[in-house]
Amino acid sequence: MSNVLIVVEAQPDGSLRKATLNAITAGKQIVAKTGGELHAVVLAKDAGALANTVKEYGVKVVHAGSAAHLTNFTADVVAPAGAEIATAIKAEFVGAAATQAGRDVMPRIAARLKAAMASEILGVVGSSGADLQFTRPMWAGAVIATVKLGTAIKCFTARTTEFPMAEKAGAGEVKAFAPAAPAKSLQKVVAFKEVKSARPALTEAKVVVSGGRGTKGDFKEIDALADELGAAVGASRAVCDAGWQPNDLQIGQTGKVVAPQLYIAAGISGAIQHIAGMKGSKTIVAINKDAEAPIFQVADYGLVADLFKALPELRAAVKAAK
Ligand SMILES: Cc1cc2nc3c(=O)[nH]c(=O)nc-3n(C[C@H](O)[C@H](O)[C@H](O)COP(=O)(O)OP(=O)(O)OC[C@H]3O[C@@H](n4cnc5c(N)ncnc54)[C@H](O)[C@@H]3O)c2cc1C
Repeated sequence: MSNVLIVVEAQPDGSLRKATLNAITAGKQIVAKTGGELHAVVLAKDAGALANTVKEYGVKVVHAGSAAHLTNFTADVVAPAGAEIATAIKAEFVGAAATQAGRDVMPRIAARLKAAMASEILGVVGSSGADLQFTRPMWAGAVIATVKLGTAIKCFTARTTEFPMAEKAGAGEVKAFAPAAPAKSLQKVVAFKEVKSARPALTEAKVVVSGGRGTKGDFKEIDALADELGAAVGASRAVCDAGWQPNDLQIGQTGKVVAPQLYIAAGISGAIQHIAGMKGSKTIVAINKDAEAPIFQVADYGLVADLFKALPELRAAVKAAK
């Protein structure tokens, strides 16, 4: 039977990271085609509480792997434990959300299971188990490939913007296990500094206001419009590489993938690597003083203007409309 195992990710406070619910939906889509069972694994110091949350989402069995060495969700301790339970339950498909942690952990689980891996899957296609294929972006999203993995066990990360969050759907069973500690661990967490922000998380925000090199590093107007709209702030890689904004605001091929209801890009040229991270947005607004900027090719609304003039006007209009 083609069992599917989803590796659950927790927030720093131990609660469920919502992206896992998108991965669970990908798992459900695989199970619907293969006829297997959907399992999940929580790996933490005390996995029980989170496992009890996850079991509500239509997962048949949640494996709660509790161990002191899993206090921090680092790839070199999570990957052996994930591979251990995948082997124990004879999972044919093992996946996680394509978050920073999922991207770190899943290739290592795949290597341990001698499994081929499809990263950032966008969809599950094919009519049955044997014929199951994934769609995934290649060349910064310029091409959508349909891939079939040829190994007995198959691994994936699921792009969260492409699978809806799983809804609560009846309680499954929780089974506790004690993952073996790896012989040695090369990663060590020395400190945890949480970035506290009153703004919504970038990957979960309904509105994102992003700035590019055109801001020259001055994000005052980007921040002010974001606050007026209750939006998250994003940035192009040029901005993060220049040290004007932290790396975790970067949107694109090598940053975060977002798909908000509204994406406002100001002073961003629209390089293919940036587009790869935001083209799933429902409505795209671009402000750029160069009428030939490629961002206008993907924009629903384009404004050829100086951002330092346009953003305050836009903010005043939003305020007035409230
Ligand atoms: C392997 C690889 C991965 C990459 N990954 C990413 C990624 O994840 N995310 C990403 O963003 N990039 C990524 N890049 C970089 C990408 O190719 C571009 O270099 C980058 O996106 C450019 O950022 P930008 O649009 O802010 O800057 P620029 O391309 O320099 O564009 C600045 C724009 O601002 C406009 N402008 C200037 N002044 C104003 C003003 N006053 N008002 C209005 N408009 C103004 C200009 O007309 C211009 O269009 C990657 C590149 C590579 C090779």
